[in-house]
Amino acid sequence: MTKFLAAAFLAAVALPALAQTAAAPAPVDLAALERVRPLREAALTDDYAWDFTEDLTTEVGPRPAGTAAEARGRDWAVRRLRAMDFANVRVEPFTMPVWVRGAESASITAPYPQPLVLAALGNSASTAPQGLEAEVVGFASVEALRAAPAGQVRGKIVYITHAMPRTQDGSGYGAFGAARRQGPTVASQKGAAAIVIRSIGTDWHRNPHTGVQTFGEGAQPIPAAALANPDADQLDRILQRSRQPVRMRLTLLSRTLPNQASGNVIAEVPGRDRAAPPILVSCHLDSWDQGTGAIDDAAGCGIVTAAAKRIMDAGRPLRPIRIVFFGAEEVGLFGGLDYRAKWGKTPHYAIAESDFGADRIWKVDSRLGADRAVEARLLQKALEPLGIAPGSLNEANGSDIGPMLADGLPGIGLSQDGTRYFDLHHTPDDTLDKIDKAQLRQNVAAWTTMLAVLSGGIEQPRGKRR
Ligand code: ZN
Ligand code: ZN
Repeated sequence: MTKFLAAAFLAAVALPALAQTAAAPAPVDLAALERVRPLREAALTDDYAWDFTEDLTTEVGPRPAGTAAEARGRDWAVRRLRAMDFANVRVEPFTMPVWVRGAESASITAPYPQPLVLAALGNSASTAPQGLEAEVVGFASVEALRAAPAGQVRGKIVYITHAMPRTQDGSGYGAFGAARRQGPTVASQKGAAAIVIRSIGTDWHRNPHTGVQTFGEGAQPIPAAALANPDADQLDRILQRSRQPVRMRLTLLSRTLPNQASGNVIAEVPGRDRAAPPILVSCHLDSWDQGTGAIDDAAGCGIVTAAAKRIMDAGRPLRPIRIVFFGAEEVGLFGGLDYRAKWGKTPHYAIAESDFGADRIWKVDSRLGADRAVEARLLQKALEPLGIAPGSLNEANGSDIGPMLADGLPGIGLSQDGTRYFDLHHTPDDTLDKIDKAQLRQNVAAWTTMLAVLSGGIEQPRGKRR
């Protein structure tokens, strides 16, 4: 071997070795990986999640936060969790203001009179019983509305359209949802009489998508609603071809009740180490009023409950598992914030929330900290046979748990496929028949696997437990 060749050979060996060190994945504990396998495979035949979701959506139905229906949901959940043998089943109550939908209708009165289908947004102001009529002024985005002089808007009905795309990761919701979240405040600040937006949804049905919005500081509440997508298409065409002002009649009745009772439902799988911080798995029990809250979020509660139950059935985990059904997510994260006020300062081993429907999980993110890289890698490898791709090691997500993630608690994000989520989200079509059993089971298998990896080893029960 010449000197030159030897040097080249050394370089060829050394360079990949160096590159590998720079991006070295943590080693995988193969024995631990093998211990998880039977739990993961058995969960693919799960019935707990489907039964939970079917029973909740049938026996309780829609569960608007802070209403008698949500209270029935809490009672139902407590009974179900006790019947499934979970420990420390309880409700942590809190109070919140409750917005209640009334009659709602809209029609174009000029130049082409015809009815439109819409739904009021949460916290919309009420019109007078006879409604209001005004000229419609259209905008392509909330930014365009922001840039408009107040004189163009004052006394009129603002309309915002948009082009939300269908995506697997649901990323359109963040960007295009601004029309719902910020549009009403901006319209109010410019003196608009009311606002209607194109639904934040990707379907083609005459189902409007409701959702919460909150008027910002100093913005007087005005009537606010979302048009079904075909009705928004229609209004787009009318605005485009009309040579005279387009006028709309709008009736949106609602009322707001102060200090109504809600609560978080909590249950536990005790750990062998009583002092160990819990792994929190969560969902939200409340729903919007039009559907039965099946994909949003009865299925999420079914998935996390089934996973915890499957761990409990297998034996006793080292670390405790805490199930939380947050009581009021849809209308402003009241449940998550109440839990954070009561428990946010106590250590949690990890926190996670299932709240993006029931379609298959395709990616796992985690943020467990640099000292838990081996555990994070084991989690990725254990989920791989379910077709779940490894994602970020410095990310986690969830609505109710969002503020606690921002506080720095360690978290896991099991991303569900959102391709058809926004066809159904916050519409009357959010019902049980939209849930695919095989995909629901894949979710349970992923959550069971996650708990099996994080719970520190499950010991088989000796003889009869309990
Ligand atoms: Zn939700
Ligand atoms: Zn929702």
